[in-house]
Amino acid sequence: MAKQDDQFKKVVSHAKEYGYIFQSSEIYDGLSAVYDYAQNGAELKKNIRNYWWKAMVQMNENIVGIDAAILMHPTTWKASGHVDAFNDPLIDNKDSKKRYRADVLVEDYCAKIEGKIEKEVKKAAKRFGDAFNKEEFLSTNGRVVGYQEKINTILSRLGKSLENEDLADVKALIEELEIVDPISGSKNWTEVKQFNLMFGTKLGASADSAMDLYLRPETAQGIFVNFLNVQKTGRMKIPFGIAQTGKAFRNEIVARQFIFRQREFEQMEMQFFVKPGTQKEWYEQWKENRMKWHLSLGMGTDNYRFHDHEKLAHYADAATDIEFKFPFGFKELEGIHSRTDFDLKAHEKFSGKKLQYFDHEAKESYVPYVVETSIGLDRMFLAIFSNSLVDETLEDGSERTVLRLPAVLAPTKAAVLPLVKKDGLPEIARKIIDDLKFDFNVIYDEKDAVGRRYRRQDAAGTPFCITVDHDTLEDNMVTIRHRDTMEQQRVKIEDVREIIMKEVDMRAWLMKM
Ligand code: ATP
Repeated sequence: MAKQDDQFKKVVSHAKEYGYIFQSSEIYDGLSAVYDYAQNGAELKKNIRNYWWKAMVQMNENIVGIDAAILMHPTTWKASGHVDAFNDPLIDNKDSKKRYRADVLVEDYCAKIEGKIEKEVKKAAKRFGDAFNKEEFLSTNGRVVGYQEKINTILSRLGKSLENEDLADVKALIEELEIVDPISGSKNWTEVKQFNLMFGTKLGASADSAMDLYLRPETAQGIFVNFLNVQKTGRMKIPFGIAQTGKAFRNEIVARQFIFRQREFEQMEMQFFVKPGTQKEWYEQWKENRMKWHLSLGMGTDNYRFHDHEKLAHYADAATDIEFKFPFGFKELEGIHSRTDFDLKAHEKFSGKKLQYFDHEAKESYVPYVVETSIGLDRMFLAIFSNSLVDETLEDGSERTVLRLPAVLAPTKAAVLPLVKKDGLPEIARKIIDDLKFDFNVIYDEKDAVGRRYRRQDAAGTPFCITVDHDTLEDNMVTIRHRDTMEQQRVKIEDVREIIMKEVDMRAWLMKM
């Protein structure tokens, strides 16, 4: 655990030191669970968004993208169920005066048991060596099976109590498990209460005529209310999808773990409209598609897993999370939900307008079913950033910190470094930049010894360094150094663009899907 905490602290401080993420309003001591993306962070975030958008919209003939407003008519949130049901079960600790999400306390308790399972697996793998069969071990080892059964029993009870809104039982569960406040170690809990997560605001200047609005807690509703507009103007035939990326706001209670859980965050969502009865197939299809998208970035198959929901939201008939191994363990990165016709039907009811699709072949109208994929851009950022940050010991015994960002997403693709600040080398470096800047973000760096400059670029995540030296004056060649392998090649200046393009071109990455 201590090791995990250290790694996470490193991620947070590295993100600040290298211009990726700053705390919001830092000079005023910050605003809790709100963050700003800095010069490199903004680029990385934009590249992730772009990679998602291309894979979703550009690569799929039957998916189009929109950009709906953050403010929506307040009835939207009655229809969606958010006014009545967008609640978190909260519990306060009377000694520390801290407030927690009751379900998260129970889930964290289970995560600890899971940690014990992982320990057993590691121990056994060491003992049995090559003969170790993980699946078999998990299903036959008495202690591990016991742990797993305990987790299942707890989560299934939690699921049932939440579904039945039996908050007294959630409290009872916390007491029976003897869960303590992570800060004070105290078991002195209040009752569990519900709390609505939407941020309210007002439209209009005068107090009497102002209208109460909410900042959207999810982007999905902007798509549902536009379903028919898009279908008609885009002449879309079912099955088809509508995608969008944008800010969402939740007054999260347990806002911690850096950008993992913020009060203002960005979602990348796609709602796929299908014929009723076919939703199961599409749900499976989108599970597969989304996992392929993640794996295309090459961050390791072992770092992802599906987690099917025990407790389904009021609108869903199937739901799963794609979980990622963050520095603090496996947690939700993306949700894939089969949302039935709940939202469109609710908007029909509340607006009095028909939201139906006329199927020309079947000659019938129906309200489509929806399968959605919903990923947090900030969580994806954290997944990539934390996974990429590694400390390496090199062959000569020296250390380096390197941010192995997938090259396609790196904020700056190359740094151009004149070996010295004189003899015409800076001028050549500037000329190279003036050419490359049409295609990539490139930077110029002439300060410090070249070895230090390499290290600085490694830590910032720049995939290539291009060094101009005295030989360049004679042979028009430069040294290109690769961040991950540290391999250096002598190449013609005119070939540099193509070498970089080969590694950062989105086309090649998308083709891995
Ligand atoms: P959680 O259970 O972690 O609160 P959720 O199930 O409420 O998440 P969804 O409503 O399914 O999340 O939202 C879709 C995605 O939006 C999530 O998978 C996550 O990546 C992202 N997301 C949700 N809440 C936040 C938040 N407070 N900060 C950052 N990202 C978030």
